[in-house]
Amino acid sequence: MSEHKVVIVGAGMAGLSSAVRLAHRGLDVTVVEAAAGPGGKVHSREVDGVAIDSGPTVFTMRWVFDELLRSVGTSLEAELQISPLSVLARHFWPDGSQLDLSARAQDSEAAIAEWSSPQEAQRFRAFCQTTRELYATLEGPMIRAQRPKLGGFTARLGMQGLGVLARMGPMRSLWQQLGHQFTDPRLRQLFARYATYCGSDPWQSPATLMLIAQVEMDGVWSVDGGMVSMAQSLARVARRHGADFRYRSPCVHIAARQGRVCGVHLQSGEFLPADRVIFNGDVQALRQGLLGEHARSAVPQEAPTPSLSALTWSMHTPAQGVALDRHNVFFQDHYASEFEDIFERQRLPQKPTVYVCAQDRPGQMQADQAERIFCLVNAPACGDGNGPTEEAVEQCQTHTFQHLRQLGLSLQPTANNCIRTTPQDFHQRFPGSGGALYGQATHGWTSIFSRPGAQTPLTGLYLAGGSVHPGPGVPMASLSGQRAAEVVMESLVSTRQFPMEATFGGMSTP
Ligand SMILES: Cc1cc2nc3c(=O)[nH]c(=O)nc-3n(C[C@H](O)[C@H](O)[C@H](O)COP(=O)(O)OP(=O)(O)OC[C@H]3O[C@@H](n4cnc5c(N)ncnc54)[C@H](O)[C@@H]3O)c2cc1C
Repeated sequence: MSEHKVVIVGAGMAGLSSAVRLAHRGLDVTVVEAAAGPGGKVHSREVDGVAIDSGPTVFTMRWVFDELLRSVGTSLEAELQISPLSVLARHFWPDGSQLDLSARAQDSEAAIAEWSSPQEAQRFRAFCQTTRELYATLEGPMIRAQRPKLGGFTARLGMQGLGVLARMGPMRSLWQQLGHQFTDPRLRQLFARYATYCGSDPWQSPATLMLIAQVEMDGVWSVDGGMVSMAQSLARVARRHGADFRYRSPCVHIAARQGRVCGVHLQSGEFLPADRVIFNGDVQALRQGLLGEHARSAVPQEAPTPSLSALTWSMHTPAQGVALDRHNVFFQDHYASEFEDIFERQRLPQKPTVYVCAQDRPGQMQADQAERIFCLVNAPACGDGNGPTEEAVEQCQTHTFQHLRQLGLSLQPTANNCIRTTPQDFHQRFPGSGGALYGQATHGWTSIFSRPGAQTPLTGLYLAGGSVHPGPGVPMASLSGQRAAEVVMESLVSTRQFPMEATFGGMSTP
């Protein structure tokens, strides 16, 4: 094992991905994690004796994990059981209409022709073409790359890539752009909702977020044992390569001497020496000085708009009235009011869109049989002070379940079969975040350039996670962790502490 000590603070998807790559390279890696196990936002809640996925539920971009695991001599299939879903999501509207978006674009097109009109189906086909081109244009220079700067980014796009962006109207908001793509307001609403996958408001997000639709149309998988199995398997692989995991070990200070990182202090009083530290918590925690002055001054001081938080219910209950699929969305009229409530009025939405994950589906359920249900409504990230009162939460809960009932879905949450999680709870679990679940909001067309990258001005301190480039979501956080591992290896090679061939192949810098 190398004499270079790396401490990774946080066993979220990014920290785990860094650990996998660096331990495989033979570095001495210790992961310190405040919680009792790996995963961070990827977590389950035990209700009524069953574990319910209560963080991310939609698993996309499997290639990220295929590549990661292949790079360390194993494979996704060897570590996990996953299966593709034929229905990406089932959508319900207050007018009683319902639409399945399918993994096969032809099936979605046929469904849209019947549900809306053949002309709208044609528009959907054109939309798919646009999102495909957009994704192909941005995957290399943006998603896979180290944090790009605007100048280098446009140079990497080339004439063809710039042409794709120009055709799409990059200065438009996602909502505006979707108005050019569809005439049926329900489809505009359906695809606008993808902005919330990175915790943002479709009216303020750039049109480039249309690429999230492409990410989902490329496939959604279900993971046997729930999403936590993914985190557990990455931890297992990292351990196999020698990484040491220390759970229930909050880090309270990142120490530096003579301008470079020298280790971390744990809440227990223990000091772990390290010449490289990767921080996988929210960048806001550093900005607020929660990890000390050295780390605070290593991140940009201006606090960006936080992304969405959520109010969630993890339940073990019968779900009756409508046939659910795995992923279900219950829309409201007046979609804009949800985001006005959250981002302008800083309050829980009066008319929330409700996402319902039925983790035991697809599959036949017996009438009256309790099943694992996770419901989520978007909420403002004000869990650090001005969070919603108990009364406001109760009111939102009433609106949420009333709305589901009006659209035909009857759930029976009780004190015994349901656990509720508020923005305040998320803030407690993810210090500094205010409950924001996706780092900073992606608002304005330059926002994709404003997240920090892996490298910081403090020698030896690196960043990884959903608040860092390329942004939130399980696969994107993993990519950021892999980028951080690459920068660590690069730093060792550039200071001749490691042989040249030790860097990872395929490293991508702007
Ligand atoms: C309810 C919900 C639904 C979501 N839905 C989806 C979805 O369907 N699909 C999707 O792709 N993404 C989804 N996401 C987003 C996704 O979960 C995150 O973007 C991603 O998991 C973040 O990973 P991360 O690497 O940033 O680490 P995090 O998950 O933020 O974990 C960071 C870890 O660091 C630890 N930590 C922080 N500070 C310290 C410290 N000082 N000392 C020790 N440990 C520390 C924390 O305890 C935590 O375990 C969802 C998130 C939530 C919460």
